[in-house]
Amino acid sequence: MFKMTPNIMRNLVVRKSTRRYPAEVREPFAKVRGELVNDIERCIFCGTCEIKCPSQCLAVDKKSCVWVYDPMACVYCGVCVDSCPAKCLYQKTQYRAPVCERLTIRMQGQPRKKGKEKEKTQEAPAAGAGGPEVDEPGGS
Ligand code: SF4
Ligand code: SF4
Repeated sequence: MFKMTPNIMRNLVVRKSTRRYPAEVREPFAKVRGELVNDIERCIFCGTCEIKCPSQCLAVDKKSCVWVYDPMACVYCGVCVDSCPAKCLYQKTQYRAPVCERLTIRMQGQPRKKGKEKEKTQEAPAAGAGGPEVDEPGGS
């Protein structure tokens, strides 16, 4: 007991090394790899993320434009984000909130218009219909 007394006295005055979690939550680091998000409007359903994912927690249905993600199997490595050619995947700097039941994220996208179809869509607003905006890299 006498041996411990100096330690106890010192611990009463020095700065604490731990936090009172969850009352006190630490700010995430700038480059933390948190919740994975897909900006489905920009996804081209190429399937690259599915092929590259080491945990096989992604599934892409190219025909029906469906992107499925299992966050419980994800290891948040960021490989899919780095390999996505459309740059529609990103990771938030916050971790996904805990859940009580297993969940799967399923996102439905729209088939990409190509060539002449896209040109027709761009001409369409002249007829008065306010269609969805088409992402044009460097377009005007
Ligand atoms: S790699 Fe990107 S663009 Fe391709 S299917 Fe995955 S999320 Fe969509
Ligand atoms: S972050 Fe890694 S484990 Fe998670 S979906 Fe992307 S590639 Fe798969």
